[in-house]
Amino acid sequence: MGNFSATDYLETKIRTGVFCRQRYFAARGKIMPINTEELLAMLACPRCLGALTAVIRREEPAGFACKVCGVVYPVREDIPIMLVEEGIPDVKWNTDNPDCPTP
Ligand SMILES: [Zn+2]
Repeated sequence: MGNFSATDYLETKIRTGVFCRQRYFAARGKIMPINTEELLAMLACPRCLGALTAVIRREEPAGFACKVCGVVYPVREDIPIMLVEEGIPDVKWNTDNPDCPTP
């Protein structure tokens, strides 16, 4: 029972919308399309639980960066890999991915 900010409200609204759509698509045996803004509202760093920033390559998220931890969680085959042990240090990410450096 704490403060419920405008950001919390927006995130709740996005989450509710996403879950409704997820059920609609799941009931039809389809995978739901989801946009980067919706993903960012739902995802958190698995290590510090902080907010993430999308790392964009050709208009698609290639990874999600946590500035606090200095790592990027990669997106593989459209699935964000949100595991502490899969976090790639910023420096390594930027060396391996010069086309989409961390923001
Ligand atoms: Zn973090």
